[in-house]
Amino acid sequence: MSDLPPIQPQPGIMEIALYQGGAAKIAGHDSVLKLSSNENPYGPSEKAREAVARAAHQMHRYPNTDHASLRQAIAEVHGLDPDRIICGVGSDEVLQFATQSFAGPGDEIIMTEHGFSMYPILTHAAGATPVVVPETERRVNVDAILDAVSDKTRLVFLTNPGNPTSTMLTEDEVRRLATGLPGHVLLVHDGAYTEFADDDFRLDFALADDFANVLSTRTFSKIYGLGGLRIGWGYARRPLIDVMNRVRQPFNLSVIQLAAAEAAMRDRAHVERCRTENVKWRDWLRNALLDLGLGCDESHANFVLARFADEATASACNEALLAEGIIVRKVAGYGLPNCLRITIGDEPSCRRVAHVIGRFMAERG
Ligand code: PMP
Repeated sequence: MSDLPPIQPQPGIMEIALYQGGAAKIAGHDSVLKLSSNENPYGPSEKAREAVARAAHQMHRYPNTDHASLRQAIAEVHGLDPDRIICGVGSDEVLQFATQSFAGPGDEIIMTEHGFSMYPILTHAAGATPVVVPETERRVNVDAILDAVSDKTRLVFLTNPGNPTSTMLTEDEVRRLATGLPGHVLLVHDGAYTEFADDDFRLDFALADDFANVLSTRTFSKIYGLGGLRIGWGYARRPLIDVMNRVRQPFNLSVIQLAAAEAAMRDRAHVERCRTENVKWRDWLRNALLDLGLGCDESHANFVLARFADEATASACNEALLAEGIIVRKVAGYGLPNCLRITIGDEPSCRRVAHVIGRFMAERG
């Protein structure tokens, strides 16, 4: 740092730990199986690929700034008001709009013990202070959140279903949280995985209808298979959307992103197929892990959390998987040192990862 002054970072910036989420690299393996980032094993809709090819002819043009066509597609598919939708570079950017718009130095932002790693980053970037509340057996504890609210609280992050826990709150619990929060606190319902939870999960939209202080976010990175393109969106009452549009860069989404997302949103058959396959292989993999004597909560997402006896066993299993070219996610940084998060791949991937874990457990005795 000694060669930096007199240039100084803003308060909070140096509290941010550099993001460590990249997948482990494995040298010398012909067929690396990446099950570490909750990506869609079936890829995006063919229609999205075609839309990208067409949009490539427009690369010399600036994109629309209001995302009207994409917002219209989202609104038609989900039965929503397009004027209450905001789109960002991944839902990460929508979460950033929220922290930047509604929190600053001296403010507090509540997140839960096993919450998503971007929350503290965005909180510090806004100069605010993260307040981390405990979960109960890897489930969000609504009372713990409500107890942590102070005059300084500006925002609460709720991931539902949770990442990396895969557990989910009931509608009653989520509504109790929304009802219990003071009106000046924004509740962010982060629904990155909601499409895997239920055929037609609408609680996040209903909350944004019923409460003036709710922002619900969703992503194209997971069930839509577009993680590489970076597109997400949020739904809230118009006054909140109006505020957040002021911090949004006008050209935040490219012509490629916009075209791909719109085509992907309209291809419901692809979404359905991905959802059905995910449910089938998620249940299969969970049962396989339970049969091996591991802990595994019921998952509402596109991954499962395998729970080992202790951290040493989880690490040793991770090494055994890496040796076979399989990358899963260690989640010690999320307060879950004895767990490994495994993305639900296609059938051969699920069988392969279960086989290697089974062999590891057998050798371990
Ligand atoms: N929220 C949660 C809980 C996530 O797991 C992720 C991605 N890992 C995101 C938000 C952000 O996703 P994206 O920016 O790709 O939309």
